[in-house]
Amino acid sequence: MALLEVKNLKVHFKIEEGWVKAVDGISFIIELGETMGLVGESGCGKTTAAYAITQLLPPNGFIKGGHIFFKEPSRVTELRRKYDESLKGASSNARRKEIARVTKKLDPLRGEQRRLQEELGKLQQQRGRAPESTASPAALKKRLDDLATEAGGLEDRLSALTYSYDLLRISMRKDGSLDDYNEKIRKIRWTEISMIFQGAMNAFNPVFKVGDQIVEAIVLHKDVSDDEARERAKELFEFVGVGPDRIDNYPHEFSGGMKQRAMIALALALNPSFIIADEPTTALDVITQDRILVEIRRLQEQLNMAMMIITHDVSVVAEVSDNIAVMYAGLMMEVGKTTQVFKNTAHPYTAGLLGSFPSIKGKKKRLISIPGFPPDLVNPPSGCPFHPRCQYARQACQEGRPKGVEVEPGHISYCHYAKELWDELRRRE
Ligand code: SF4
Repeated sequence: MALLEVKNLKVHFKIEEGWVKAVDGISFIIELGETMGLVGESGCGKTTAAYAITQLLPPNGFIKGGHIFFKEPSRVTELRRKYDESLKGASSNARRKEIARVTKKLDPLRGEQRRLQEELGKLQQQRGRAPESTASPAALKKRLDDLATEAGGLEDRLSALTYSYDLLRISMRKDGSLDDYNEKIRKIRWTEISMIFQGAMNAFNPVFKVGDQIVEAIVLHKDVSDDEARERAKELFEFVGVGPDRIDNYPHEFSGGMKQRAMIALALALNPSFIIADEPTTALDVITQDRILVEIRRLQEQLNMAMMIITHDVSVVAEVSDNIAVMYAGLMMEVGKTTQVFKNTAHPYTAGLLGSFPSIKGKKKRLISIPGFPPDLVNPPSGCPFHPRCQYARQACQEGRPKGVEVEPGHISYCHYAKELWDELRRRE
């Protein structure tokens, strides 16, 4: 089952100069227990995508389209895709009509369920006395089971038609801004989806003890006493390799690595099923970086939780990710299994990104940086946004935005010439 499906997500920021198209239509899927690395240069929209998922966008950030399906049962996903396909191009009226048709079938079933429940309840209360109803409890239970199956199928269809597992449907206002005070989304944030923020150095409030900040997060979301939350915070400290006796220290008494571990403890505090780690090792020295990556791998193995690791450092995702999604200028460039993207790179931008990092184990080669600069996202280039910097660009690259091309199973490149360039990119490695 897919834990998270982001579909055609668009997030734009309003600034004086116009709209910054920070994320302009990205799609990806993260399965249960899987780790995906989201990579790309600074400013490509990685963190914006994460803030849209956690619904933490600043007030000038607006969702301009798309969906974020979270914990949608696979049977609903299947139905949703079928409906999306069959209603493609149809007016919103067609969807409304279908919703009305399913609801019309469902309503009498719900009515009958309620009536039979009441009848069953009465029969159970009258045990030993002369029954008022001729139906037997066993027959009523059987009918109720049949009704539950039938109603369940219709409810799944309604969920699929109305996108009821879409986080944006819960909290998006008409203008595309997010309702931060929405109780439903507050329950999901931290308990279901938590985040390790970029720059652990500044993520803790310097005037409160680190342990107290974790205790506060637990008490706010769970019905537990301060003492119970403190015990949980100590357990978490131990779990991430910080002595529980450090719980009463202030952030300035922690080293960079300890702060990052404490951030991980905070993200784990409420046992979420999905964690987003935004540049978890940036600003740490290489030895501490390595220890934190070992820690992340251990957590993945022990807790089997899904993760999205955001980084500009491809060596980080190589170590911890099952899949990689490469972003550039608010768009996806390449998505696939980590081994596929590293070994069979199928996009010129990914090739440039990989070529600018040294390999410790591979043969020595000159590092090549990508020429030029990331584009202005208020006025992004037409067609493929990478065309001003791409050595393979042709006329067509300036005209149409590339669609995803499946170059091998599960490996998608958003380049017009992905298949043509396949051998050339292999040769360049
Ligand atoms: Fe380069 Fe064109 Fe492919 Fe974009 S679509 S990456 S510009 S070859």
